[in-house]
Amino acid sequence: MSVAPLAEPEVLVPASEEEAIAAFGDGTGVTVLGGGTILMPELAAGRLKPEKTILLARAGLDEWRDEGGTTRIGAAVSVGALVDAPEPLASAARHVADYEVRSQGTLGGNLCAGPGRGFPRGDLQAPLIALDAYVRSAGAGGERTEPVERFLSTSPGNRLVVQVEFETRDRLGGWAALERPHAHSYTALSVAATISPSGSDLRVACSGAGPYAVRLRSVEQGGLDGDPGEALRDVHLTDDALASAWYRERMLPVLVGRVLSQLKEAG
Ligand SMILES: Cc1cc2nc3c(=O)[nH]c(=O)nc-3n(C[C@H](O)[C@H](O)[C@H](O)COP(=O)(O)OP(=O)(O)OC[C@H]3O[C@@H](n4cnc5c(N)ncnc54)[C@H](O)[C@@H]3O)c2cc1C
Repeated sequence: MSVAPLAEPEVLVPASEEEAIAAFGDGTGVTVLGGGTILMPELAAGRLKPEKTILLARAGLDEWRDEGGTTRIGAAVSVGALVDAPEPLASAARHVADYEVRSQGTLGGNLCAGPGRGFPRGDLQAPLIALDAYVRSAGAGGERTEPVERFLSTSPGNRLVVQVEFETRDRLGGWAALERPHAHSYTALSVAATISPSGSDLRVACSGAGPYAVRLRSVEQGGLDGDPGEALRDVHLTDDALASAWYRERMLPVLVGRVLSQLKEAG
């Protein structure tokens, strides 16, 4: 009996955005590696055996520009670099893991992280919803730019994130999270919000209350003086390895209340 040799895994290192998009194609059978903080342990342990891997490190997606009032951040910009971003993105970035993970992990990886084994990940997602950010991605059907909450509800895992952009207006930002004692720990629950200078446009979201971040529209409708408990209308809480649904149900209104207070004090 003859045994067919195993196909060599393909590793591509695109040198530009165009090359990265071409290498990704429609995404079939492709694994994208940003900083590798999530993927590398999976590869090293042999739990993931990709046929074709794209390394983004040299694709020129690590640029961050402020053009005519719009902030554009490449998918390969590190979480560590985002500690200088507008709030509440900066606060969330500062609280991701430790220096080592922040230096290596990327914005694109955080958006596509999805739930880990038994707990949610992706602390930058809620701040990006609060900032009314848009994701530019490539994949089946070509390139498209869409609100981050729509991207999170339909596409993570299917598309190549190229860039994130949002208007750099004078919005006030607030952020609060369940603090956990260990620097390496994931955040169990966090809330991010922004409000326009006129106070007419409040945007609130939370990470950690589901597989991806969720916009808290019921809180937004109540305004800064609304009932923080309304947040519970927008989430479906479950138990996981980090916290019980019972605990999150009690803490989510507390965090929302803190963030609304931050915005009131800053206004
Ligand atoms: C000890 C430790 C602690 C951590 N703590 C936190 C924490 O507190 N908060 C938090 O949010 N995260 C945490 N993380 C998870 C992770 O480090 C971050 O979410 C990081 O931003 C992931 O980015 P990455 O580039 O390393 O992702 P990678 O490991 O490269 O990829 C993660 C996923 O995203 C996909 N991907 C990567 N880039 C793209 C892209 N441009 N387009 C499409 N898909 C892409 C990959 O295919 C993979 O599915 C922690 C990780 C570790 C190891």
